[in-house]
Amino acid sequence: MSAHILKIALDVPLDSQFDYLDGGFDVAVGQRVIVSFGRRRQIGLVVGRTQASDIPQDKLKPIEHAFMEEPAIDKSVFKLMKFCADYYHYPFGQAILSALPSRLRQTEPATSRKQFAYALKPGASIDSIPSRKVVQHRIFTALETHGELSETALAALSPSWRKAVLDMQAAHLLQSREILAGLKSQVQQLHAPALNQEQAHAVEEIVQHAGQFKTWLLHGITGSGKTEVYIQIIERLLLDNHGQILVLVPEINLTPQLESRFRGRLPHLPLVSLHSHLSEGERLQNWRLAQSGQARIVIGTRLSVFTPMADMKLIIVDEEHDASYKQQDSMRYHARDVAMVRAQHHDVPIVLGSATPALETWHNAQTGKYEVLALTNRAVDKAALPQIRCIDTTRNMLQDGLSQILIEAMRERLARGEQSLLFINRRGYSPVLLCSACHWIAPCLRCSARLVVHLRQKRLRCHHCGHEQKILPACPSCGNTDLHPTGQGTQRLENTLAALMPEARILRVDRDSTQRKNALHDMLAAVHADEVDILVGTQMLAKGHDFPNLTLVGVIDTDSALFSPDFRAAERLFSQLMQVAGRAGRSEKSGEVLIQTAFPDHVLFNALRAQDYPAFANSLLQERELMQFPPYRYIALLKAEANDFALVQRFLRYATDTARAYPSNVMVYDPVRPQMERLKGMERGQLLMQASSRQSLQKLLKTLVASLRAHPLNTKVRWAVDVDPLEV
Ligand code: ADP
Ligand code: ZN
Ligand code: ZN
Repeated sequence: MSAHILKIALDVPLDSQFDYLDGGFDVAVGQRVIVSFGRRRQIGLVVGRTQASDIPQDKLKPIEHAFMEEPAIDKSVFKLMKFCADYYHYPFGQAILSALPSRLRQTEPATSRKQFAYALKPGASIDSIPSRKVVQHRIFTALETHGELSETALAALSPSWRKAVLDMQAAHLLQSREILAGLKSQVQQLHAPALNQEQAHAVEEIVQHAGQFKTWLLHGITGSGKTEVYIQIIERLLLDNHGQILVLVPEINLTPQLESRFRGRLPHLPLVSLHSHLSEGERLQNWRLAQSGQARIVIGTRLSVFTPMADMKLIIVDEEHDASYKQQDSMRYHARDVAMVRAQHHDVPIVLGSATPALETWHNAQTGKYEVLALTNRAVDKAALPQIRCIDTTRNMLQDGLSQILIEAMRERLARGEQSLLFINRRGYSPVLLCSACHWIAPCLRCSARLVVHLRQKRLRCHHCGHEQKILPACPSCGNTDLHPTGQGTQRLENTLAALMPEARILRVDRDSTQRKNALHDMLAAVHADEVDILVGTQMLAKGHDFPNLTLVGVIDTDSALFSPDFRAAERLFSQLMQVAGRAGRSEKSGEVLIQTAFPDHVLFNALRAQDYPAFANSLLQERELMQFPPYRYIALLKAEANDFALVQRFLRYATDTARAYPSNVMVYDPVRPQMERLKGMERGQLLMQASSRQSLQKLLKTLVASLRAHPLNTKVRWAVDVDPLEV
């Protein structure tokens, strides 16, 4: 009797599961069901069965429907989500339901349209097709040549292909089979380079430790052949007919390249990608292919760390230091850390790849928790490391943000037919609009931020909340009409270069210029086709892309990051600069990197010039230890915001008192305002907690969160806990 009660997880902001009668459905754990909750019908997931409910049996409602034909979600995903919900203090139901493809969150059966491929039936003859049926003839001949064609390929033959195929099927000329579009493989096979000694060693080590949890740090500069190592490990581990591998990548823009390289090298291994640029149908299909085990390789961004894959053999986290692995809203998880837990659950190895590992990772490698595999040279013969130099801006006059040395260096490249890249981390024309008389600066009224000048559109824009307005004709503070765009942005740099070198073909690559679908892809193609002399771009260009003819990288104006209050700013800047530097001289042409700075003797630049990540990392670690920051301490932030700051203050005051009253050795600081005090019209505050043990911090957070959920201000203040925040 009582075994008919189901525990169901729902997408509601409550940290509990809900009891329903099974309604006669023989459901398994992980099955999707529809229930009525409050006045709404909702999707739920069966989490388990229970003997007894707190609710009297006659008050329990039965589930309305169970999607019995759908495969149940693997228990290992539940286990992983349970861990995350606990660790990040987020409601389990919301966490697990928001990790599902959107089609699975709807109360309809989830389908993605089936795709078919067609071939000629044995013995089919073209003579049976009337000669006036031109399209049928064309299809027949094409199938004779290619054997089998997908619907997409057939559609390319004629717009009326579908009717022709139906007729040919009726005439028993064709046979068809369902294909899984997500698994399509590239026809052109790429050949495998012979590995160098370090690469071969890395592959051997990892392959030999298959079948047990162990963390490897694959530490190698850009171009040292890390991706090649991943590919050969995958090839070796998936030799026999089972096993799946999850590859996490930080950035959606990098997936197509990596995907086609993997497909080209491993055409026999079905591969799917998972990221937010897929249509809902594609996403569902790819997710299901991973779930069923048909997809042997899954390449995906952050969220795909939760993809059900029962037969996991290995997890790879590429560019493991990248900040985009951290989810910045709802459940604030770090995909690399979650991947680590997942590898532990499946008892498989995990490989973290990076040129500039996160300090946490580096620390774990130093203390022997992770094993390091180093790639110390560029993989391509003759490709040397670029020369890195600083240009002292206190001694070299800047002309519209550019030093003469950098301009000359670009002119040389132009004369030699080589490409240059100017890196500046600010899109728009200029970061501020300044009144020359009273020094008023155009602010965003909804954020503690300045409005960025976008001159071409004649607009001022806030890059934090999206607010937009016309450029003001006069200073609202003193009436002066002489307002100056001040400072450098990508658009302004592009203008300056066009005036300096009218003969150069200049391309700007930033979030504004790449909004159109495929824009980035087309731009990168233009660079490869040598249709561009000078690239001006933001960090978008820093990652992953490989331009053989690019021999100069200029870095403009990064000094603000040297003295930022953000404790990770230096770490991030170093990794960013190493990454852009990695764009230069990727082939036999040697590369040069010129960095404009007023602080050429800063430790960061010394380490960068020597391309000595370990030296820099070790000096940062000393600082962190002194400051008692991660990785030497564990931290969590309680973030709160409301229209009225007084509410935030009251809420955080209560939180502070509660946290301090709890007996623990967690350091609870006073509540403060974050650097961005106001965002999107909300007043913000936060509370920092710091501990030398993860466990004591977790215990405190659990109590604190429970009492905050019960507090009257719970619904008036928007609040969240950020465990292991990237910024404080
Ligand atoms: P990373 O991922 O570290 O940036 P890649 O694996 O992309 O490095 O390798 C950089 C370049 O070197 C690629 O063009 C790749 O094909 C090539 N490459 C990698 N390993 C070798 C090798 N052992 N021999 C020759 N070329 C290689
Ligand atoms: Zn003024
Ligand atoms: Zn704003």
